[in-house]
Amino acid sequence: MDTLYEDVAKLMIERKRCVALTGAGVSAESGISTFRSRGGLWEKYDPAVYASIEVFRRDPSKYWSIRGDFIRDYDSYQPNNAHLALAELEKMGILQSVVTQNIDGLHTKAGSKRVIEVHGTIREINCLKCRKQYIAPHVPEGTPPYCESCGGVLKPNTVLFGEQLPPDALMNAQNESLICNVMLVIGTSANVYPAAALPELALQHGAAIVEVNIERAFPSVDYYLGEKAGTALPKLVDEIRKQSSYSIS
Ligand code: NAD
Repeated sequence: MDTLYEDVAKLMIERKRCVALTGAGVSAESGISTFRSRGGLWEKYDPAVYASIEVFRRDPSKYWSIRGDFIRDYDSYQPNNAHLALAELEKMGILQSVVTQNIDGLHTKAGSKRVIEVHGTIREINCLKCRKQYIAPHVPEGTPPYCESCGGVLKPNTVLFGEQLPPDALMNAQNESLICNVMLVIGTSANVYPAAALPELALQHGAAIVEVNIERAFPSVDYYLGEKAGTALPKLVDEIRKQSSYSIS
């Protein structure tokens, strides 16, 4: 194991209170396309057209027409080694929570208990007219799908461009950032605000920042693990286990 992983493991054990902020990159190895990295969805589609609330209100079929290119359906994907490693870190008492920008539900499927979904979840689909909620996979078909009760247009409970973040989730995410001692920032290009500001908030309050990304997104972090999340995070779990058992014996 190289010393970089030894150092990060030591930091996480000593500082305790670790929080993870995850983005699309953490789910890339589960087969879900990222948005901005090479080959990402926004190379093919303009997010201002296909993922804005303004356009959705005028023409919801635009969003629904590319939905299959992004996530076919909620049950099609499985957590990868990165999600599983984060769940393991929580079980070990090292990780306090996962703040995720992802909407795919894979952290929860992997077994993480404290997950803050700042951009909502595709598991829930709401009628914009009567507010009836459908839970995947029990969702009407269609482009766009319509509510079986009132005929209103259905929209996933996810944040589109131009929409506010769910206030409770944002507040919880900010609290986690304020009180953590280490923030793992994993697989995010840090382009989407306010989530992208959370590492800065953590940094201002004395946390160390560890970035896990195949391409560096944060120029000035304390540690950069430049590997796929599904490789880096299990390595980190192994190293923490090794060092914890040394300190117990
Ligand atoms: P992004 O698409 O802007 O950036 C992805 C980042 O992941 C890049 O920095 C890339 O270098 C990195 N990456 C790619 N593969 C990786 C891997 N195997 N291991 C580690 N890093 C890897 O994603 P973002 O910053 O999360 O912002 C996009 C927005 O789109 C978010 O708000 C999110 O809600 C949404 N989104 C969600 C999903 C999902 O739920 N799975 C997928 C795409 C986009």
